Amino acid sequence: MKIRVEDIGPEGLEVSFEDPGLRPDHLGDQAGAIVRAPAVSLHLTRSGPTVRARGRVRGGFLLVCSRCLGDCDFKLDAEVDLFFGPRPGRLAVEVRLEPGDLDLVYYDSGEIDLGAALRQEMSLALPMAPVCGQGCRGLCPDCGRPLTEDVCGCQKKEIDPRLAKLAQWKTD
Ligand SMILES: [Zn+2]
Ligand SMILES: [Zn+2]
Repeated sequence: MKIRVEDIGPEGLEVSFEDPGLRPDHLGDQAGAIVRAPAVSLHLTRSGPTVRARGRVRGGFLLVCSRCLGDCDFKLDAEVDLFFGPRPGRLAVEVRLEPGDLDLVYYDSGEIDLGAALRQEMSLALPMAPVCGQGCRGLCPDCGRPLTEDVCGCQKKEIDPRLAKLAQWKTD
């Protein structure tokens, strides 16, 4: 989704679209199927060549649970507040630095690339270690099956260490 900067009038520009092709950058080949196509709603304003895009991006992705490696349904709802500025040319000796310049997303040929910027924003909004649910207990260290499903009996055979101590104390 590219927007011509000159199309942003003094009253700003409302941009909203749904794009199933909009994937977070680092989702890669992970199970990361898109459950709900990313929906973007932004309000663009312009101050000279600097464009500010504020709004939200929402979507649903199937991630891999970091504990049990099962499916993890993740609902993304990220606030967007981006600044775009023209890429300084080699001849631009005087670049006026403003607060927030570090976060400036550069654009070329008078067009901002919302898609690229949003893909990155979405990546940042994804959890580093997704968990399928509060109750996910990961995998059984003995048989490797998910503990959540209670399918293995390995843990049940283990004796609580406190009880083990008690048992030892009783025999002493
Ligand atoms: Zn899990
Ligand atoms: Zn087990």
